[in-house]
Amino acid sequence: MDTRVNTVAAGAPVLPLAGQRALVTGASSGIGAGVARALAAAGATVVLNYVGPDGAARGIVHDIVETGGEALAVEADVSDEAAVRAMFREMFDAFGSIDILVNNAGLQRDASIVEMSLADWRRVIDVNLTGQFLCAREAAREFVRRGVIPDVSNSAGKIICISSVHDVIPWAGHANYAASKGGVQMLMKTLAQELAVHRVRVNGISPGAIKTPINHSSWSTPEKESALLQLIPYGRVGETADVARAAVWLASDHSDYVTGATLYVDGGMTLYPGFEKGG
Ligand code: NAD
Repeated sequence: MDTRVNTVAAGAPVLPLAGQRALVTGASSGIGAGVARALAAAGATVVLNYVGPDGAARGIVHDIVETGGEALAVEADVSDEAAVRAMFREMFDAFGSIDILVNNAGLQRDASIVEMSLADWRRVIDVNLTGQFLCAREAAREFVRRGVIPDVSNSAGKIICISSVHDVIPWAGHANYAASKGGVQMLMKTLAQELAVHRVRVNGISPGAIKTPINHSSWSTPEKESALLQLIPYGRVGETADVARAAVWLASDHSDYVTGATLYVDGGMTLYPGFEKGG
């Protein structure tokens, strides 16, 4: 059995992502910010994508650089093809290439189906699904062009698609969001199938309830948090670090034989807790 894992050579305390270059979309807050910090702590050079005010992204870049890492903040709306292509060019100019893409940017525009505007349907699909396609396409082009660099990783590249438990759990009042995440699930699997021959690994992380700005209203008071906990068998709301640790593992050669998989980081939310005491 070949047990080699590229970045854990015998006895060497090498960081698992040393020498790798990562792009994290939507990295100025929540899960993206946590993932960017964790990838940097694991040795990667990190590009933090953001939209709107740049203060938060630049603050994270500052923190990473202060602790000896390398990072850059780049603005781009991930649903804008020209902006995405310009972002990748800026990354390649700065760092030469890409080894890890974390497709994380996402948003919600909630409404019942009878109230939902076409604009809100389109915006969620454009950012959550088309945005992942546009970024994955640019990364895949570079991975396929460049191939494996054996000293860096066993893979030519890794793509991690941040989906949601709502890629399998229907979510009334959020048809656009659930449809976008169901789409991400099949985009991820299809890219994994298509790109494996190029030694590119594509995997998903589907978080349950993680404390971030996107869902602040569902845990902002003790009453709301306790209602939310009814859906989480493990008995606590998730933290961004829970997702970040999974992302570091999927980005590293420790998961070298894993592709096309979804890690549900959800404290058991997808275990149908309503059936806990029998059906
Ligand atoms: P968040 O609101 O803190 O993060 C979303 C990020 O995406 C923000 O930084 C936002 O600026 C960015 N963004 C939005 N539109 C963008 C665009 N057009 N281009 C670039 N960036 C854009 O919330 P979060 O919880 O950290 O969400 C991150 C991802 O995790 C999302 O895809 C979300 O659907 C997913 N998710 C979150 C939870 C949760 O419980 N927090 C659960 C399941 C899935």
